[in-house]
Amino acid sequence: MSTPDIVIPTDLLPADGRFGSGPTKVRPEALDALARRATDYMGTSHRQMPVKLMVAELRNGIAELLRAPDGYEIVCGNGGSTGFWDAAVFSLIEHRSHHLSFGEFGSKFGKAVAMAPHLENPSVAESAMGTHPALEPVDGVDAICYTHNETSTGVMLDPVRVSTGDQLMLVDATSGAGGLMFDADATDVYYFAPQKALAGDGGLWIAMVSPAAVERIERIAASGRYIPPSLDLKAALDNSRKDQTYNTPSLATVFLAAQTVNWFNENGGLSWSAGRSATSADILYGWADRSDAAEPFVQIETQRSKVVATIDFDESIDADTLDDVLRANGIVDVNGYRKLGRNQLRIGMFPAIDPTDTQALTACLDYCIERLG
Ligand SMILES: *Cc1c(COP(=O)(O)O)cnc(C)c1O
Repeated sequence: MSTPDIVIPTDLLPADGRFGSGPTKVRPEALDALARRATDYMGTSHRQMPVKLMVAELRNGIAELLRAPDGYEIVCGNGGSTGFWDAAVFSLIEHRSHHLSFGEFGSKFGKAVAMAPHLENPSVAESAMGTHPALEPVDGVDAICYTHNETSTGVMLDPVRVSTGDQLMLVDATSGAGGLMFDADATDVYYFAPQKALAGDGGLWIAMVSPAAVERIERIAASGRYIPPSLDLKAALDNSRKDQTYNTPSLATVFLAAQTVNWFNENGGLSWSAGRSATSADILYGWADRSDAAEPFVQIETQRSKVVATIDFDESIDADTLDDVLRANGIVDVNGYRKLGRNQLRIGMFPAIDPTDTQALTACLDYCIERLG
């Protein structure tokens, strides 16, 4: 089937057409700044000052942005959030973990744990797609794991501490960190990657860890458990304290993440960056509520993500065709999550996306829907 020939008038189009849920919009300003460091930063040793200073800038900036409580530390390593799950399997979970599974990412972490021969089968709580299971105390586990924002379904879960004793709260904030307000004290490990709300590029993981998490990492490292060196969080911690990573990171990724974090902090920090996402969310869900053809997929308002919107369309509009038409007009990556299998668009509302562009997107959607319906 060929894409209907719909040309959106240029005055309706957003200034930037990237609305993906990750990788997503990287600010041209950040890339320009990187180009200015083409010869004194890019292509230089990560064991020397210029790069170590950049890692320090990123770690300090993240601590400020996330309002790291006393004693919490920022640790970085290679492999993105998926790599961090594997590191958690070796360096954070002692015997058995509990997982909330309400989309692709939470379920993947649970599966990575289930495959580990040295851990017991995890306990997993599931809920219908488009909702999250209750975050409540669980006995007999040493880690409670969930996603702050489930990028696949557009469901968010506000962090609350439900741990007892020395249980750790592990929060996958890959698409949430920097875009959602949260209580840092409710987390022991708040981990993410820079290609989503931080408007950067992939390949790195960043984790804010509590003193209890550090104690766990050190205890497991001392226990004699086999840990592959690249997944060893003790090695990551020791290197991070020296503003390095265990092995070579992508210097561009470190730089771009630091650029965004500085931009957020200079403008007022997390309340500013999360505020931009919240403004976009009000615009987009408000539009969907008013539209005859669209409605938010997530019915429970408090669970409706402020960084990734999933919007269902009625049968008069084929979402895949709508996505094709938008792409032909330069509005990209708003396709729904394939495995969810719904007549849906999924739209990134990360802080780097200008709310005026989100507003423009709704005008473009109206323009296309009128001509497709
Ligand atoms: C994107 C994403 C991941 C995977 O991140 P990678 O850096 O690609 O490994 C994990 N969890 C969530 C919630 C995500 O959105």
